[in-house]
Amino acid sequence: MKNPHAPANLDRSVEIFSIGNELLVGQVLDTNTHWLIRSITSVGAHVRRATMIHDDYDEIGTELRAAVARRPRLIITTGGLGPTDDDLTLRAIAAGFNRPLQLDMQALMWVTERYAHIAAIRPNFDASMTESRRKMAYFPAGSRPIYNPSGAAPAMVFEPIEGVTIVSLPGVPSEMKDIYTQSLQPVLAETVGAGGYVERSLVLQQGDESRLAPALIEVQSANPSVYVKSRGQKFEDGHFLTVVLSHGGANLEDVRSTVRAVELLAIERVTALGYIVLRIVGDEVNQ
Ligand code: ATP
Ligand code: MG
Repeated sequence: MKNPHAPANLDRSVEIFSIGNELLVGQVLDTNTHWLIRSITSVGAHVRRATMIHDDYDEIGTELRAAVARRPRLIITTGGLGPTDDDLTLRAIAAGFNRPLQLDMQALMWVTERYAHIAAIRPNFDASMTESRRKMAYFPAGSRPIYNPSGAAPAMVFEPIEGVTIVSLPGVPSEMKDIYTQSLQPVLAETVGAGGYVERSLVLQQGDESRLAPALIEVQSANPSVYVKSRGQKFEDGHFLTVVLSHGGANLEDVRSTVRAVELLAIERVTALGYIVLRIVGDEVNQ
């Protein structure tokens, strides 16, 4: 079925890139992308695409340029901001968009302070500014650093390129989350904005999912903005067939009433087919 979200939410769409060789050999599970998708969806915005790529200088630039050409409102990358040589996200972005790398004094101050802070609490820790630490303070011209409350490497926000904002976050999940929830809020307010998301599941007895298809097609086409999906789901009391209705937007009240209307229609149609709606479970997020 065609993705019903795509046309309605193009203006609040996001692309995610997780960058790291360790992801593509299966050493590390890409939980950052999952967390980001949930966070973006919860404010009624829409993740159009998520991509995993290697720490590859040329590929990072090529992929991000292709993403900008698709015109999402925001691109978020995670990974590759650290002090080691294989952390090359910012260098690759600078080259990909033809910008020189520049030492940013604010970032240098943050990095210096972070190591001084570690030295203050850890005996025999050498806080001196080394080349690899200084590397985390180099940013592409036209970008600015974003404070990292939990680690050394500042994040980056690039001025909009053809209307597309690029944000680069560290790969360490706790740092990525802290920056997103604390330092990045003004950038998120300007790009994906605020809103809400509602997900409601009609829980049916187990049964032949294919028999539901005509009812779901009808419910979906009557309400293209609400995503209608049947799937098997496991609950504490067993496996059930569910019909999941989900929808996000800038106004939670509107989202709620839209989903409510679709829910009533879905109940009517599946009941007409002989299914019994055992219960309805709902999740509502508003940020
Ligand atoms: P660092 O300062 O630690 O080098 P970084 O921004 O360079 O930070 P990476 O080196 O890419 O980040 O990743 C650091 C660690 O974070 C990885 O070893 C991995 O455990 C974890 N990590 C990286 N990317 C992801 C991801 N997409 N999902 C979950 N964990 C990740
Ligand atoms: Mg690293």
